[in-house]
Amino acid sequence: MLHNIELQPYNSFRTKAIARLYCEPTTVKELTGIIKKFPTERKLILGAGYNLFFTEDFDGLVIRPAMKGIERIREDELGVELEVGAAEEWDHFVGWSVSNGYAGVENLSLIPGSVGASPVQNIGAYGKEAGECITRVQTVDIQTGEPIIFTAGECGFSYRDSLFKQTKRYVITSVRYRLEKQFAYREKYADLNRELNAIPRPTLVQVREAIIRIRNRKLPDPELLPNAGSFFKNPILTPQEKDALLQLLPELPLYPSGDNHFKTSAAYLIESAGYKGKRKGMVGISEKHALIVVNYGTGKGSEIADFVQEVQQGVFRLYGVRLEPEVWIF
Ligand SMILES: Cc1cc2nc3c(=O)[nH]c(=O)nc-3n(C[C@H](O)[C@H](O)[C@H](O)COP(=O)(O)OP(=O)(O)OC[C@H]3O[C@@H](n4cnc5c(N)ncnc54)[C@H](O)[C@@H]3O)c2cc1C
Repeated sequence: MLHNIELQPYNSFRTKAIARLYCEPTTVKELTGIIKKFPTERKLILGAGYNLFFTEDFDGLVIRPAMKGIERIREDELGVELEVGAAEEWDHFVGWSVSNGYAGVENLSLIPGSVGASPVQNIGAYGKEAGECITRVQTVDIQTGEPIIFTAGECGFSYRDSLFKQTKRYVITSVRYRLEKQFAYREKYADLNRELNAIPRPTLVQVREAIIRIRNRKLPDPELLPNAGSFFKNPILTPQEKDALLQLLPELPLYPSGDNHFKTSAAYLIESAGYKGKRKGMVGISEKHALIVVNYGTGKGSEIADFVQEVQQGVFRLYGVRLEPEVWIF
């Protein structure tokens, strides 16, 4: 157990905060022991810190799961089931899978973070979500210290959401992925189709490489310009909200989303409200991408939180849409 640890290196926005207690358990048994030893401490689970930042010190226990490893659990001629430790780097797992010829997670190439966080917001990109390939999630209950396994159906996966995100109650120690040995590229996503245009039958490796090229062009590198990726979720609109918004923004992008709802683009709303590339003090919206809030040099998370609130209020005033953060603010 470590005391008074600076969390700035552990969040991609590089905001400063001290954790009174900090641990990196490498086994389920060690994690269980720690939780049982500190039953009344406030607890915060930390992965690689690419989707959160701190606005104040944390007077409690930060748990950063450190279980590693990729283990083949089952294999047949069609596919393979892999148990992956929470602390494995997500893109390392994707690269490993692609180089072994296993299909399923290649569209999620280059998403920064840990495997343990992948079910939390059901990470997604290019028409694919992690939850589509997860068969079970192994956890430890943060309140009791007891190990609990969730089947995929129990995880409550939906758009950037899950039971783990809703309850914040389970420390994920490993995730089981089922990947396929057969691969045929299905055209789903315009950007990706364009990038693969010259290739008649793209292979897994070619799809991964194309996604890496697109993401490197589009997204600011958090190591060079601290950020946490897309800051807001894309809003889901009722038919009435959609019609009202079309009066104000006739070019509004809209996609069907579940039963009679429509997903629109948070980036489009932010850009239309004039915030793209806008900067206030040491915080701003990226010039490359309207959904990305960037830190130009503050250590204070409160400055980021204040700026984000200003953007939310500006968009709400103009368009009546409440933007919901995808990033966690502690
Ligand atoms: C440049 C950039 C691009 C991005 N692109 C995408 C994208 O295309 N699609 C997408 O979905 N996301 C994207 N993200 C967001 C981010 O990569 C994901 O949310 C990722 O899963 C974060 O992993 P992490 O380990 O850093 O989690 P953290 O930021 O450390 O934690 C995120 C949340 O998960 C919880 N958590 C973390 N680990 C565990 C665990 N083991 N058990 C239980 N709870 C845990 C934390 O408490 C926190 O609430 C992007 C981020 C960046 C910076």
